[in-house]
Formats: sequence, C-alpha cells, structure tokens
Amino acid sequence: VASASTWFLFYYRRQQQKQRQNLASRQELTTFSSAYESLIGNTPLVKLPRLSHILQRDVYVKMESMNPGGTGKDRAAWAMLHAAEEEGIIPPPIQEHSHETSHAATTKAPTHIPQNETEQSYETAIWQAMRASRTGGLVVEGTSGSTGISLATLCACRGHACLVVLPDDQAHEKQRILQTLQAHVLIVPNVSISNPKHYVNIARRLAQYARNRMNIPAVFVDQFENQANVKCHSHVTGREVLAQCPTLDAFVMSAGTGGTLAGIGTFLRHHRPTCRIVLVDPPGSALYNKIQYGVAYTMEQEERGLLRHRYDTLAEGIGLDRVTRNLAYGLECIDDAVRVSDQDAVDMAHWLLQNEGLWVGSSSAMNVVGAIDTAWKLSPGSRVVTVICDSGSRHLTRFWNHDFILERGLRWPRDQEQDQLPACL
Ligand code: PMP
Repeated sequence: VASASTWFLFYYRRQQQKQRQNLASRQELTTFSSAYESLIGNTPLVKLPRLSHILQRDVYVKMESMNPGGTGKDRAAWAMLHAAEEEGIIPPPIQEHSHETSHAATTKAPTHIPQNETEQSYETAIWQAMRASRTGGLVVEGTSGSTGISLATLCACRGHACLVVLPDDQAHEKQRILQTLQAHVLIVPNVSISNPKHYVNIARRLAQYARNRMNIPAVFVDQFENQANVKCHSHVTGREVLAQCPTLDAFVMSAGTGGTLAGIGTFLRHHRPTCRIVLVDPPGSALYNKIQYGVAYTMEQEERGLLRHRYDTLAEGIGLDRVTRNLAYGLECIDDAVRVSDQDAVDMAHWLLQNEGLWVGSSSAMNVVGAIDTAWKLSPGSRVVTVICDSGSRHLTRFWNHDFILERGLRWPRDQEQDQLPACL
C-alpha cells in the first residue's frame, strides 16, 4: 500500500509540473492580442440596393457597427491605448491570467492630502476606478459614450482601470453598458468646452491629479486631440474603403472627433484625388460654416449665444464647436458640407429599417441623408460611400423613443397613416 501511494504522489507531482509548463506557454500566448482585438476592423462595405435603385446612383455603407464593440470607435480606442502603452505612460498589458488587483494599484499611498471638496471627489472617483486595475494603470477619458465603451472593454482585457466622464444628455444605456464593462462612470452636466467643467476638461484634470498627486500611472486618452485616432483611420480604415470600392466618387461622414472623416479623407485624397470628401453636420455644430464660408464661430461668439451648442441636436457623438487636432489633420481635403436636420435623420432611420433592414443610430442616419444629398449632386451611376457608426440598440431611450421624439417637437414617421418618402428622397 505504501509503495502504491508513493507512486501516486510521484505521478501527481509530474502532472502538476506538466500543468505548470503548460501555463508558462500560455503566458507567452498573452502577448498576442485578445479575441476582441483580433475582431477589430475589416468591416464589410455593403450596397444599399433599394436606396441605390431610387437614386440611380450607388450608395454603399461601411458597417463600422460590426466591430466587436458595436462601434467604429474600437479602432481609435485600440490605437490610442497602444500608443500610451508603447510610450510607457501606462504599464504594458497584464501578462498573466489574473483576477487579483495589482499590488502597484494598492500599495502606492497618495503623496497628497486632499485640500478641498473637488480634490476629495477626484480622489474617491480615482480609487473607485482603480479597484479594477490589474496592471496598476489608469485610463481616463471624457466621452459621449462610444469611445468609452470600446476603451472599457479593452481596459478590462488588458488589465487597466478605466474612468469615464460622461455628459448627462446621453442615452442611459451607454452608462449601464460602461458600468457592466467594469468602468467607473462620472456623470457631469453638458456645458461648453470653454467651461472648465466640460466633461473633457474634467477628464484631463482627473488624469493629471492621479499622476501628480497619487503616483498612479494614468493617461488622459484625449480622443479629440490625440492624433493616434486620425492616423489609424488614414492607415487602416481608408485603405479598407478604397480596397472595397476602388472607384468611389464621394466619401461622406459626420465628425465627432473628426478622426474618421479626416483619416479616411486624407487617405482617399492621396490615392483617389477625384473622390469628393463631404462633411455632414448636425444642427448646432460649427463645422458647416467652417467648410462653406471658412469661418468657425469663436468661443466668444458662442458665449454670446451666436452658436447653439451641439446638445440642441438629437444626434449623439457628432457635431463640434471647434476644429480639433484630429479634424485639422484632414480639414484641407474636405470639399463640401451638408447640414442635416434632426427630423431628416429620424425619417431616414425609419426608412432604412423598413427598406434595408438596417436599425441604425442617429449619426448613421445623418450620414445616409448626407450621402443622398451628395449622390443627387453627382451624375447617375456614381458611387457614394458613407458609414454606419453604431446600431439603434444604443439609442433606445432617445433617438428610438417615440415619446422623446414627440417631446422634442418632431414627427414619428410611423404615426402617419401613409408611408412617405423622407424629404431628401
Ligand atoms: N457616431 C457615433 C455614434 C460616435 O460616437 C462618433 C464618435 N464620437 C462618431 C459617429 C464620429 O466619429 P469620429 O469621432 O471619428 O469623428
């Protein structure tokens, strides 16, 4: 009996040893990207057959909503996070499969005692976010939602804590999704960018505070000014669009940070100079005037009420009151601008659902209206490409909410007795 148990022990130890060796090779595997990351990009470009038939011009949509995070922002979030890791601003991704909070995150004591209420609340938010950190790194961003969702997922699998500052006029589901993805969410009133309490300014200060006062390796992602955003679109997304539709005559897109439009626009300008690049602008945004008349309203004019701020529009994630660094990268190549009303976007979204089976969000509906406007200006047989940024499922409480649309003084297309074509058709 004694020798049998000795053999068993020997056998058991060998098994354990083998398992450990196996684990070591699995650790090497973590240097490859996760499943999520491997699914980013290479999205389909699809023709809208019914719309193209009506227009006698081909309209194609780049299905950015088919990225794993349900949004084209996956690409920019990945590029900006990688840049921060490579520059050493935040630690490299977690190298082993671990659910434990990193020691780095818990052992570094703050070097500063909060002096006032703001600092106290910053510290609370940062520590709450840091509970999810396995690398000791913290990623902070001010976002209207989509970028936050992509960042939160990437942070969860790369091991960083994620703190998202969100304006209070965004659909509730975005907040729920962010929290489910382990991000810490801070909701603040949506005020002008010139106000220090604008969500982007708060996010910048939070990252500075974490770095300077709490010794936490933190990065302010800064999607509006961080050119890793526009460059990933010019190197990758633009190349995909051209490979999928080499003879396109126009590319049409709205601007949130300007990264997608400026990135794809510059690539196309270089490789297909005859292609028109068209900006779609929602009500309240300053870019239409900038492109058409060469003047964007200044901040002082905005303060004096000359420019309605973008929260006047139904469209989420698009419209700007300034030229960001990402947009500036490709501003030169924008040939034309189209102003699209909220009602046109609502009508178009319902038409797309009923005719093409595409359930899209507000910015995508505006993009398609812009594409139709551009197509009418081109000769029959031309090809226009635009982008479906995300699905209607992210917009249930606002854009796809009957009562909310009526409260905004707009029409809900299906309330009418007879189906009508959207005005742009
Ligand atoms: N649509 C949605 C839903 C968005 O969230 C965004 C980005 N905020 C955009 C479009 C615009 O993309 P970009 O930031 O590249 O201009």
